[in-house]
Amino acid sequence: MLFCFWIGVQLNCLKEGNMHEKEPLVFKNARIITPMRVIDNGVLIVSDGKVSNVGSEDKIKIPENAKVIDAAGKYLAPGFIDIHLHGGGGADTMDATEEAMEKISVAHAKGGATSIVPTTTSAPMDDIIKAVKVIELAKKRTLPGAQVLGAHIEGPYFSMEQRGAQNPEFLKEPKPEEYLKLLDEYDCILRVSAAPELEGGLELGRELRRREIVASIAHTNAAYQDILAAVEAGYTHVTHMYSGMSGLMRINAYRISGVIESTLLLDELTTEVIADGHHLPPSLMKLIIKVKSLDKVSVITDAISAAGLGPGKYSIGGLNAIVEANVAKEFEIPEEEGNYVAKLLTRDSFAGSVATIDRCVRNMIKLVGLSIQDAVKMATINPAKVIGLDEKKGSLAEGKDADILILDEDVNVIMTIVGGRIVYRK
Ligand SMILES: [Zn+2]
Repeated sequence: MLFCFWIGVQLNCLKEGNMHEKEPLVFKNARIITPMRVIDNGVLIVSDGKVSNVGSEDKIKIPENAKVIDAAGKYLAPGFIDIHLHGGGGADTMDATEEAMEKISVAHAKGGATSIVPTTTSAPMDDIIKAVKVIELAKKRTLPGAQVLGAHIEGPYFSMEQRGAQNPEFLKEPKPEEYLKLLDEYDCILRVSAAPELEGGLELGRELRRREIVASIAHTNAAYQDILAAVEAGYTHVTHMYSGMSGLMRINAYRISGVIESTLLLDELTTEVIADGHHLPPSLMKLIIKVKSLDKVSVITDAISAAGLGPGKYSIGGLNAIVEANVAKEFEIPEEEGNYVAKLLTRDSFAGSVATIDRCVRNMIKLVGLSIQDAVKMATINPAKVIGLDEKKGSLAEGKDADILILDEDVNVIMTIVGGRIVYRK
């Protein structure tokens, strides 16, 4: 008798579980942002964690058993993909704990990130390995907020002259006996940032290309000829444009192009901008987009642990940083409430940003003058292409993962959906 009762409950649970999974989720009355346009009166259907149908209301039949969410005329956008961030919500990737990963995941989901690529920083290799191990575990789990796509290794193979907020104590040249161990052991590595002009930098680029890992030019003092060799070796992307890189040099009366000019010139290279509204003034963001074209530039936060928290003193990669209100109004950066900036204590270098990616998208509209669909591209399909996941993510199209945002007119995040699951509601 008891046994029968137990079986009955189990069957019921099973049935309910199944029904719940099968029940489609429908968004209606939405302005749907695609890479080409905005569809008014749009409907989007999610089945089994994927987008199964998307289009205008008059062309799509809403299934009877669906759970319907009325977007009330607001925007429906693909989830944002942040391919360069260190932390958030008080946690850092280098904390190397599952709890830290969850805090980062939750903090950035509030800002509309549905996918994140946690980024390590220059440190002893053992510490980097610990962090990558946790990223690998996180990638295989369902996190409470944004999903982890893989790891970005930022450092320690950087130029001392262009270290920025990377700890100089740990910078070194890339040696295969060191990095091969890391690459062999962990499949989750999506991207490695390095200075290609260092001894061993080109060999590293070739190794990354063999493994289909994105090789990204970063914290580099290279000249044009070095960059040509880097592209030939396999480097395809340039980390945080204008930060930690050489510009025009003058040697014995001759002008030599640096990494900035090389990136602007070479169509082979994609790049990314820290669009927190502090790192780059609007004129530079406009220049990058004008020369590179909209398709080759992604927005990133490069966020530190203090992202989503208030002003105060924090530690990043063992260096002390201060988060404070913007004090550089004279440099065409408008003051905006809550838009804090993170600097080293000396205040001569930024220490990453405290933004979530919604602010970056908002800035592309407010400061650069882009349309909402162009600004959204820079946080969705463009970064998806950089890391080779554009077949699954980056736009609201049939068959793609149901990573979806409801946004208001000012790109404030109303709801974040990851793989068909609501993970944040304002
Ligand atoms: Zn970074």
